[in-house]
Amino acid sequence: MHFWRLYYHELLFGFYDHGHQDYPGWALRNYIAFLSLRWKIEKVQFLCYRERRGEPDLEKSLIGEASFAAPHGWDGSDYVPEIIGWEGEKAGDRKKEKILKPIDLDSLNPASQDEEKQVMHLKLMGWRHPSLVLNKLRSARCLVLGAGALGCEVSRLLMTWGVRKLTVVDGGCVAIPDIVKQSLYVDNDCGVPRATAIVPHLKERCPAVEVEGIQMEIPVPGNPVSKTKMSSVLDNCKRLQALVASSDVVFLLTDTWESRWFPTLLCANENKIAITAASGYDSYLVMRHGAGPGHNLSTEDALGHQRLGCCFCNDSTSFVNLVLNETVALPGLTSIASGKAVELFARILHHEEGIHAPGDIAGMDTEHWLGLLPHQMQGSLPECALSTVIGNSSNDCNACSNGVLSEYRREGLDFIMKAINQPTYLKDLTGVSNNVIKLDTCLTLPVSFPVNSGKLSSV
Ligand SMILES: [Zn+2]
Repeated sequence: MHFWRLYYHELLFGFYDHGHQDYPGWALRNYIAFLSLRWKIEKVQFLCYRERRGEPDLEKSLIGEASFAAPHGWDGSDYVPEIIGWEGEKAGDRKKEKILKPIDLDSLNPASQDEEKQVMHLKLMGWRHPSLVLNKLRSARCLVLGAGALGCEVSRLLMTWGVRKLTVVDGGCVAIPDIVKQSLYVDNDCGVPRATAIVPHLKERCPAVEVEGIQMEIPVPGNPVSKTKMSSVLDNCKRLQALVASSDVVFLLTDTWESRWFPTLLCANENKIAITAASGYDSYLVMRHGAGPGHNLSTEDALGHQRLGCCFCNDSTSFVNLVLNETVALPGLTSIASGKAVELFARILHHEEGIHAPGDIAGMDTEHWLGLLPHQMQGSLPECALSTVIGNSSNDCNACSNGVLSEYRREGLDFIMKAINQPTYLKDLTGVSNNVIKLDTCLTLPVSFPVNSGKLSSV
């Protein structure tokens, strides 16, 4: 103490200053208060040390001298000094005012600190791209249908993108062959429902994620159910309705094409973002479904754009008609398709027109910081090719056309049960025999599907 009182006027007190103005940042006030309280000194020379992009910024750093009166009464154990906090905005007139910001003690707990570390890469991305909105990602409610190879990858990547609200639906159990292909499961999961097994694995990687696993079979059209099962199928329909209604985005990643029909219809009806990913042997498809037709069942969406198609529209499924019951895929395909699907999600979420954004084509100019926002991406591993495709909603689509949605709105689940129990019902309604919806097939994608002229895309 004696030393300080004798020599403090010869010392330069430094502190890290986050400000960039011509005057010291607010932290100096606290620093001076500390010096005054701790050593009872009345004048200091100080250095506001500043950095720019991690390097010392001596031009912006400041040196100054501050004099201040000796504090009175601070030694009292019950004395509470007046505190100057952050500058905020008044609600309403948005004028600046000095407001006291309470210290958020939650930020000091280990879980919050871990979460801060887990989103650090996103914050660093935010420095490069100020348009990145972490809260938008954090609060997006994602419904992942299918917890197999694609579902595991997509769930994990969504967490990497900062998504913290996940619901995963699956009707199957983990089997031994899945362990090396479905990246989240381990040997002990064998025999456990995927919807149950995936939850702790996601929580282990990201404790902050709110994840719910739901074991449920998704009702499929043209697959009559017995009277004894009617009640449970109806319950599943209602549950899926509620899940889609409470979600912001739905990923269609189930291992059969027909199980994507009802969720596709629901997303079109509710105008929810839907993203489909599927792989054949060496090729993959990733696409976002177009916006719904709105209350008036228009061929245009709410922004007046021609509605983009869904994965059951003719343009999207032309290659699906080359169906082979292929269950084998090149090992890298799932990761690539999953990565594309999640990137597509992040781009839609940050696009000013969101679900209504028109489809971009490779080679177009874009001002969007994440790049192009295509409607469909079709890739081929052997050809090292990626094509971007746009297809409008088809008038005779059995999932998103106005005719189908009109019937669904009129009859509700009665319509769905007819589609399930009467194999030709959808065909009779749309007038089109849709080969896409098949029964008891595995993923109905061809071994290879055509990719436009091997054109490489920048997406
Ligand atoms: Zn469609």
